Amino acid sequence: MSSSPVRVRFAPSPTGNLHIGGARTALFNWLLARKTGGQFIIRVEDTDAERSKRHFEDAILGELRWLGLDWDEGPDVGGPHAPYRQTERMERYNALYTQMLKDGTAYRCTCSEERLNALRADQEAQKAARRGYDGHCRDAGLGADCGPHVVRLRVPEGETHVDDLIKGDVCFANADIEDFVIVRPDGMPMYNFVVVCDDVDMGITHVLRGDEHLINTPKQLLIYAALATAAAGSDLVGTVVPPRFGHMPLILALDGSKMSKRNGETSVGAYRELGIHPEAMMNYLARLGWSHGDQEIFSVDDLRTLFTAEGIGKSPSKWDMEKLTWVNSHWMRALPAETVALRARAFFEARGWSAHPREVALVACLRERTRTLVELADAARIFFTEDYVRDEAVMAATLPAARDVLTGVVTVLSATEDWSEKSLEAAVHGWCETNGIKLGKVAQPVRVALCGQKVGPGLYQTLHVLGREVALQRLQAAIA
Ligand code: GLU
Repeated sequence: MSSSPVRVRFAPSPTGNLHIGGARTALFNWLLARKTGGQFIIRVEDTDAERSKRHFEDAILGELRWLGLDWDEGPDVGGPHAPYRQTERMERYNALYTQMLKDGTAYRCTCSEERLNALRADQEAQKAARRGYDGHCRDAGLGADCGPHVVRLRVPEGETHVDDLIKGDVCFANADIEDFVIVRPDGMPMYNFVVVCDDVDMGITHVLRGDEHLINTPKQLLIYAALATAAAGSDLVGTVVPPRFGHMPLILALDGSKMSKRNGETSVGAYRELGIHPEAMMNYLARLGWSHGDQEIFSVDDLRTLFTAEGIGKSPSKWDMEKLTWVNSHWMRALPAETVALRARAFFEARGWSAHPREVALVACLRERTRTLVELADAARIFFTEDYVRDEAVMAATLPAARDVLTGVVTVLSATEDWSEKSLEAAVHGWCETNGIKLGKVAQPVRVALCGQKVGPGLYQTLHVLGREVALQRLQAAIA
């Protein structure tokens, strides 16, 4: 594929939340635009009046923004080809199929439901090789006054080739494609038709989308071909160039079955709520079907320079929560502690914890050992409340025997004014040296006294984050 600037789009139907497959489609198109210095457009395909809801549109755009994507044109930001919602573009669709009727590339059809049902039954009974509409009204020359009708595309003989960026040449026999309906009896234009109208008008050069759309592509190419023959005088003349298509393999569950709620969360929002960072989500989504050698960790800047459509593989990829979590643990440590802390706040809030005086330090000491923001928030309990789980058995086995050590540490720490990690470390080390006690003998009981567990974040970090008052209180309680 050339590296000249592309115009690509993500075209969500606002009938639900953003799914991981959709997020990957959006990401790959966005990367293609950003890599080539082209444009990324959001177009909302809301022609399903019953199922389309504005709150889904808002939610989808919100998730895309969370992921770190931005767009040059779209329903919220406008642009030279506004409006960007299909329900607001009806006049244009109307004009285009009127043009096609005039050009003869489409025709009116008044066949009744009964006739079409009988035709279907007949074809089935005869096990006919050619099924679908039989072209009854094709040459009837029906005009606008023909009564209730649909508009059908006049599908020519021959073959339609999809020169797919990922799959290579995919050939469809036109004989297998009936003269399909592009406008319903109520005047509502159909999906394949409006997609093409918009992609033409918006100057789309490349379409990366899911495999499930491959069956639509020959139909869409036939519509391009029809629009391209628009008679002189039409504003379509010279503007109809089909985009390059690339159909991406499905995302499957780990066991190879179809992704569903049963084998993993399918919405992007669910992963946000599980404490996945957007950088990790982007990183992981990019690796689903795309690769660059055996590199696993990619920043957005890496992706913007390395991404190519040629790097997209042909086989389905599997959604692996373990791997996503692993990628997330990388980003937990790689992001600035301030960023992680800012994001962790919502998770602390949800647990009823208001701001901690040393929240960034708190996050910095926990993120090394936690893989998601949920795990981090769970581990943060010891810093926010006295209501945390203590391992009573460990406490009973450790604390009584360490009474003298703990008493000594409390004495030296009580005299320590500077509660920074460095100063705490110096104080404890000094005490160990003076008393000829190994640090190992001290660290364990102090940690158990502070956290109620044998394992926990670094000792001086823990002391520092807990703060003077709480730390001394817990140590004294342990001695008592
Ligand atoms: N609106 C379609 C969908 O949500 C996308 C159509 C396309 O990408 O061509 O699946």
